[in-house]
Amino acid sequence: MSMIDPLLKLQEIDGRIRKSRQEQIDIPERKKEEEARLEAALAVCAEANAALANAQRRVEEIKAAITERQNKTLALKKSQATLKDNSEFKAFNTQIMGLQSEIEQFEHQLLIADDDVVVPRHNAALADAKLEEERKVVDEYVNELEIRKKKADEELEKAMADRAEYEKELLGDPRNARMVTEYNLLLSRGRWPVVAKLHRSECVCDGCHLRQTASVGQQVRRGKEIVKCEMCGRILYDAE
Ligand SMILES: [Zn+2]
Repeated sequence: MSMIDPLLKLQEIDGRIRKSRQEQIDIPERKKEEEARLEAALAVCAEANAALANAQRRVEEIKAAITERQNKTLALKKSQATLKDNSEFKAFNTQIMGLQSEIEQFEHQLLIADDDVVVPRHNAALADAKLEEERKVVDEYVNELEIRKKKADEELEKAMADRAEYEKELLGDPRNARMVTEYNLLLSRGRWPVVAKLHRSECVCDGCHLRQTASVGQQVRRGKEIVKCEMCGRILYDAE
């Protein structure tokens, strides 16, 4: 067993910790994105339905205008029947004809307004269906994300416990103390991976890609001590 093996094992555990932590950051972000997608579909749906309501209101307004004039006409005709005076009768007739002409205009507008409902109704139905579909997809995905988040939480807890246990085991041998301290220091400085391959043929650090000197290469191959990359400070290990 090379002296670097315990550090590689520690790094493997730290890899799990990092992955779980990243998941804990990513999952809420993904959830937000999904919710934003749903918000967008909701907004489109609200807009489409508002347009439909507008078109329908226009139809109702015209119908009300027609009814109002029809009622007025009826009332006028009723009163007209009781009139004795011919000139009054004629004046009523003029009013009735005026109302008739207005009704005809409104009826023409009603045809147009009825047509104007067709497209908004189609759009609103499409938007409703799309929202429904989107909601289903988002709900399913959010559910899945919640399961993943729970798994990540559990995995993080497990990995942290594994790390604590393994570090304790390593430090049980005082000869490992310096190595573990070096490793932890690099990790706390954000070096990742902390332990990097040194490719034997090119003698290049896998962390920063700097070519190392031949003597560094030899030291790494011997594996008797901790050797660090001259550029990035990562702990190097021998790799074919
Ligand atoms: Zn390096």
